[in-house]
Amino acid sequence: MDLILFGPPGAGKGTQATRIKEALEVPQISTGDMMRAARREGTPLGKKFDEYMQAGKLVPDSMVLELMKERLSKPDAAKGAIFDGFPRTKAQAEALDELLAAMDRKIDAVVVLDVPLEDIVDRVTGRRQDPTSGQVYHVRYNPPPAGLEVIQRKDDTEEVVRKRFEEYEANTKPVLPHYEAKGLVKRVDGVGSLDEVTERIRSALGE
Ligand code: ADP
Ligand code: ADP
Repeated sequence: MDLILFGPPGAGKGTQATRIKEALEVPQISTGDMMRAARREGTPLGKKFDEYMQAGKLVPDSMVLELMKERLSKPDAAKGAIFDGFPRTKAQAEALDELLAAMDRKIDAVVVLDVPLEDIVDRVTGRRQDPTSGQVYHVRYNPPPAGLEVIQRKDDTEEVVRKRFEEYEANTKPVLPHYEAKGLVKRVDGVGSLDEVTERIRSALGE
């Protein structure tokens, strides 16, 4: 199965992808995580990503597509994937169709997590991460275990998240008609407990 988890920054895409990937038996592919990994390695490409990410701007399509091509060629992604934070532009959506078609695959569903801007700012500014496992927490809604050292992403400030939300409205939301035309879009209310949202996604997918 090839599933896209779609929605604004902080909607819960990563959190929910982690919770449903085992049942679907496919890996989670997060372009944001891949870019942060490149940045940690200190490669020239990683430094380039960082400039865009800290400004809350989208990384240019050509760079993102290079990453995706390489990722989809790995054996664990041979039977499907959950795409988290990708595609974010029409060009990325079209390129993904082509990449999948070359593997005799196509997108099966696009789940849109609807979350209003006020909640997004609250979620993103309270987001914390375990630097070792990558596990994502929230200071109030999903607190890390006592004693665990967690870090905050540099782009998770109120100012940058507002900019990212603008990018979502201007460039990413317009991707939806591409999938609506194919009848693939399932809207899910992203406000509620983590379990409630997981259940809504499962039922939207007919699981
Ligand atoms: P969030 O969903 O919280 O916004 P991500 O980790 O998905 O976080 O993305 C963080 C940043 O990485 C984005 O603001 C953007 O700069 C960059 N990025 C991630 N994925 C893409 C993509 N598919 N296209 C362009 N830029 C991307
Ligand atoms: P995305 O991948 O869409 O950017 P995340 O999954 O990283 O979003 O979630 C953003 C923040 O919101 C994290 O701190 C996460 O713990 C928290 N979060 C995720 N789902 C919910 C929810 N249903 N209710 C409250 N907070 C949530």
